[in-house]
Amino acid sequence: MSKEQPPHPKLAAARALAKRAMQEGARWDELAACRGIDLDMEIFFPLSETRDNVALARQICKTCPVAVECLDDALALGDVFGVRAGTTGPQRNNMLRRSSAIDTNTV
Ligand code: SF4
Repeated sequence: MSKEQPPHPKLAAARALAKRAMQEGARWDELAACRGIDLDMEIFFPLSETRDNVALARQICKTCPVAVECLDDALALGDVFGVRAGTTGPQRNNMLRRSSAIDTNTV
């Protein structure tokens, strides 16, 4: 089992700033690292989600101060297309299926 690394100090500071901005009314997507660079849709929506094709998007997501909010949003919407929060569509699909199985087993 891998231990989660603490975020880089600059990312931790960016997350703190983003959290404060959201408390003051900003929407999470206004603070996204990918905001303004989505002109090239191929970065976040590659034709095939191979490791190489999603590498750049994942690098951008690693610097994103609102990745947690992004993943929460994607899962809430059932968005399984493209890269969100460094995850591919199939990965989120698996998360949703596992979550659904857990819900079913606990009811
Ligand atoms: S985590 Fe990635 S896809 Fe989500 S908002 Fe941030 S940069 Fe964009």
